[in-house]
This record gives sequence, C-alpha cells and structure tokens, in this order.
Amino acid sequence: MHRRRRTRIIATLGPASNSFEMIEKLSNAGADVFRINMSHGTYQEASKLYSTVREVEKKTGRPIGILADMQGPKLRVGVFKNDKELLETGQQFILDMDETPGSSKRVNLPHSEIYQVVQPNTELLINDGKIRLNIEKVTATKITTTVVIGGEISDRKGVNVPSAILPLAALTEKDKKDLVFSLDLGVDWVALSFVQRPEDVQEAIDIVKGRAAIMSKIEKPSAVHEIDSIIALSDGIMVARGDMGVELPMEQVPAKQKKIIRHARRAGIPVVVATQMLESMITEAVPTRAEVSDVANAVFDGADAIMLSAESAAGNYPEEAVTTMNRIALTVEGEPSYLRQLAKDELPPEATTADAISAAAKQVATTIEANAIVTYTGSGSTALRAARSRPETPLLVLSPNISTARRLALVWGLNCVYSQDAVNFQDMIDKACNICHEYGYAAVNDRIVIMAGMPFGTPGKTNVLRISRVLDYHVNI
Ligand code: PEP
Repeated sequence: MHRRRRTRIIATLGPASNSFEMIEKLSNAGADVFRINMSHGTYQEASKLYSTVREVEKKTGRPIGILADMQGPKLRVGVFKNDKELLETGQQFILDMDETPGSSKRVNLPHSEIYQVVQPNTELLINDGKIRLNIEKVTATKITTTVVIGGEISDRKGVNVPSAILPLAALTEKDKKDLVFSLDLGVDWVALSFVQRPEDVQEAIDIVKGRAAIMSKIEKPSAVHEIDSIIALSDGIMVARGDMGVELPMEQVPAKQKKIIRHARRAGIPVVVATQMLESMITEAVPTRAEVSDVANAVFDGADAIMLSAESAAGNYPEEAVTTMNRIALTVEGEPSYLRQLAKDELPPEATTADAISAAAKQVATTIEANAIVTYTGSGSTALRAARSRPETPLLVLSPNISTARRLALVWGLNCVYSQDAVNFQDMIDKACNICHEYGYAAVNDRIVIMAGMPFGTPGKTNVLRISRVLDYHVNI
C-alpha cells in the first residue's frame, strides 16, 4: 500500500481504459487519481467509470480520488457545406451569426457575446491555433478577418480569442448539468475549464457547496494575470497547457507553469501539471527524451501531481504511460538535488498552529530520523499544511472521513488511510504506531512523529506533537 513516490499521478479514463482490469492495472502501476472528462461520453458511461474505480478502490484498499473535468465555454465555429475547407494565407474570411453552412469565404460563429468584445487588429485562433486570423472589422453580427496562417478548417472546430476577456461564465448550461450529475455521483474533485476571473470560481463554489473540492484550470491569459485571487478561492489548480499554449505564445507556457506552481505551493493548495506530458505514448511504447525531461521538470518544481490525458484515455499504451511516469517521478525524487531544490524553495510557515506544528514535526522528524510523520485530519486542512512543508520524512494521513482521504490522493506526499478517529491520547499513539507498522512505514523500535488536535474530532484544532516508539504490543492491536 505504501507508495514511496511523493508526486501523484492522474490518469484520464476513456475508451482505452474503461474496464475493471485496465483501471486496476493503472492503479497498480501508480495512478492515484482518475479523471473523467465530461467533454466526452454519456452520463451512463461516466457512472460506469465511477463505479468501476470504486470497485478497484475496494480491492486495493487505497483511497482513490475521482476528478470530473467540466468542458467549460469552449467556443466553436458552425458547420461547412462541404464539411471542411482550406483557408489560404492572405485571403479574407468572415465569421458571422448566419447559421447557413459555411464555405471558404465564411462560417457561422454562434456566440453573440464575442462580437461585442473583439477588437480590430487582434487575433482569433482556430483549431488549437493552427489557423490564425487577424481581425479587420467588427459589427454586432459579423467579424471580417484576414488569414495570417492558413490551413484546413472543418465542422465545429474550436475558436480561441486570447486578447479578450469574454463575457461568458466559466460554467455553461451543460457544465451546470454535468456538475450536478458529478456531485450526485460522489466525485471528489471537479475541474473548471476556461476560468477567466475569480468570480467564475465563486459561481462554482455556490453550486458545489463543499460537496467536492474545486480545481481551477488555468488556460486563459486573464487567469494567469489573476492567479493569486483565483488560488485564494480554489482547492486546487491545474496548469492546463493544451489551451494555454493556444491562448498564449507557446514559448511562454514553461515560465507560466513554474510561476503557477510556485504560487499554488505558497498558498498550500495542490497543483497539477497537465497535457502532452507523454504525448508520443499515445502511439508508441516509449516516450521521447524531451517528454521524459518535461515530466522530470514538473517533478523537480515540486508539482503535486502530473497528469495523463489521451495517453491513458485513448492511447495504445495506457499502462506503460503510467509506469513511465511512475519511474520518472521516482527517479527524480531519488536525486539529492530534488530534496535540495525543495529545501531551497522552503516556504515559511504562516502564523497558525497547524503551520507551527507542521514545521516543528518536519524538524523533529529529521532530527531524530523518524520513519514517518502521522497526521490525524478530519477536513484535510492539517494534512495540506504538512504537505506544504514538503518534509523528507514520509507522511501518513489518518482520516475518519473517506471523502477527505480521497480528495487528498492528489496531494504531494500524502499517504491516506481511512481510519476511525482516536478516542483518547493513548489511542492516538496506539493507532498511529499500529498503522505505521501494518503499512510498512516503521518496524518495532522505530520512532514516529504524530500530529493531532485535541479534543479529538474537533476541526481546526491541531495542537499536539508527540514522538512515539513503535512497541511490540502495537503490532498485535
Ligand atoms: C488543457 O487544455 O490542457 C486541458 C487539460 O483541458 P482539456 O483536456 O479539457 O482540453
């Protein structure tokens, strides 16, 4: 059960990974969290994925997180008379509110809000930025453009308008339905696509009402700009490099990735690096050296989790992709420079008891060479603060709340065990020692450091730090 790896792995599920056997293989290979992409598939398929992951969880005995990713307000062109057209560089091309199928001269863009905010001499991008249009003239129903980079355009291709904050909420009508469906299903995390401003996160908070943790996907330049206010409202952040690389010049993505990781870590919320991490493994059994380096860099930067998209959802090698990520992360984490880097990034504790106790636990555990730091947590907040300090000593989280244990599955270094709360001080020590022994963290006579809150079961009360030795009788409790 004990995973030595601190960086967590998220695997997206899809046609290549929808059976019990494959999900179990991915879990055993190292996937800690499974992502259901609400842009694809039916509710029936999503329900099936959810229950299959829960069956795998029951078999492995390790709490598994499930993340439902909302599609968000993705803008799309309408359809073409001939399904597709070739746009030549230099030609004029019009986007309009006319629903008639398009041609090589024009196509429908059925989002009236865009016409009010786009400006001449800014860019409009189609099909993941492969086609670039310069806007010449705008009316309430028509945008006239010149093609800067041509290419093939076809039915319902995506449209990006990097320069504008669009008057669109991050949750469309479809998203709101999908959100309610996902919450009823019992998912642990929901991800919001195309967050543009903090208000978008607030809108989701008002619907979710604490039933799941909220992850804001950062892909719009405006979201990068307002990153700290978005982090303040979110439970987690995803560096969504796919759309970010369209909305921003691609060469800016690496620096933004590092900045977002830094800011999320400082706030103590988990941060995920996503998209194209092992892209070539969709069709090949081995990754490119550049991909290995990309995954390694995210790990070196102290990201909480790294994510597979099509590699695990629709590729030919889902299990190999997880195995590869697991190997890269373990190897990086075994490098002395990894811990040196994390120590250099050390984030000063804030003036709270949870931070003071976490900082002390880290120091005490290092000094006495303890085998584990054990954290009792109900809501998960103490465990998040313990993970924020990125201790070298393994972290074991005991929670009486299964949904907390599942949510924490994507947080750096947290190994969660679903366990009854301690009933008194001695029980706190006995349970921690027993579980550390049972899960292979500590042998008889090894020492562990325990963090807890008294009175037990009261949220936000972490106030105890205890050093304990695992004794013979702990083994047989
Ligand atoms: C992304 O754009 O990087 C991303 C994770 O979002 P999606 O896969 O939903 O497009």
